[in-house]
Amino acid sequence: MAYQIKKAAVIGSGVMGSGIAAHLANIGIPVLLLDIVPNKLTEDEEKKGLTLEHKAVRNRMVSGSIQKLLKQKPAPLTSKKNLALIEAGNLEDDLEKLKDADWIIEVIVENLDVKKGLYEKIDAVRKPGTIVTSNTSGISIDAMAEGRSEDFQKHFLGTHFFNPPRYLKLLEVIPAKTTSTEVIEFMTSFGEDRLGKGVVLAKDTPNFIANRIGTYGLLVTLREMEKRGYTVGEVDSVTGTLIGRPKSATFRTLDVVGLDTFMHVAKNVYDKTEGEEQEVFELPEFMKKMIDNGWIGAKAKQGFFVKK
Ligand code: NAD
Repeated sequence: MAYQIKKAAVIGSGVMGSGIAAHLANIGIPVLLLDIVPNKLTEDEEKKGLTLEHKAVRNRMVSGSIQKLLKQKPAPLTSKKNLALIEAGNLEDDLEKLKDADWIIEVIVENLDVKKGLYEKIDAVRKPGTIVTSNTSGISIDAMAEGRSEDFQKHFLGTHFFNPPRYLKLLEVIPAKTTSTEVIEFMTSFGEDRLGKGVVLAKDTPNFIANRIGTYGLLVTLREMEKRGYTVGEVDSVTGTLIGRPKSATFRTLDVVGLDTFMHVAKNVYDKTEGEEQEVFELPEFMKKMIDNGWIGAKAKQGFFVKK
């Protein structure tokens, strides 16, 4: 079967989903962007007599993050014309629209059960032959494919983008045991030729390659910092601009990734290892406290740094 991506759907419009949707729009692919919409009107909307079905309300709730991307400098979305290629919607109301997608990308919270619940819904509506991928940072692709239809399993694999997806060139492609060779080959060449990424084919092991190493490196850095009393500024400088990286590889990165997401990603390996190897993947206490306080990074406007 020859695959073609004329239309994509991204599910999850958070940090990564909105960025992936923007990247696809920038290369001319129309995208349906769905999320679970908080079904609440603002005071202002109530005063104006708007309802949840009103287009402006839905756009505000689902594509707020996308609109913000246009305003950032440099903007992840290159033009308003590209923004028009993104149709925002609500997962519950617009599930049927997934029938029109040739590629569905799941970009929701890093939790196996929640992701599996979503795949069950996707499996019920997708047209046969639709490629379904997960942006998981390291949950087992095989475990996610379990229980799904044969056609789904053949067309399911991991496509792990890096943050921010428009700029970072790496794309890990992680096949499940059930993924067909044609789908793996298609995704690899599509990733390179259309998405403009450098594809690394990774095995389905906890956190694959980049995050296995990356999470390890970050956690070891944090331990050393605590043990030796280095400051956030010192660590950020020597892992960032002073050694020629455009931004800090430690605290600023953690803020951009989201401390909550980082916690889930570290847990992916923690749950699958033992002893000394496992200990490294335990989050330091100060970070657990920050997460309890809701200081989860740029998306909450407070992480290691305050975002104004
Ligand atoms: P996020 O918290 O910014 O966004 C997650 C979005 O998913 C939210 O908008 C939430 O409302 C939505 N959501 C949650 N449950 C849902 C459901 N059942 N159905 C539909 N939408 C649902 O998270 P993120 O950082 O964008 O991460 C998303 C995925 O991408 C995770 O698997 C994560 O591990 C992976 N990832 C994250 C990064 C990063 O740097 N943040 C990098 C690579 C991969």
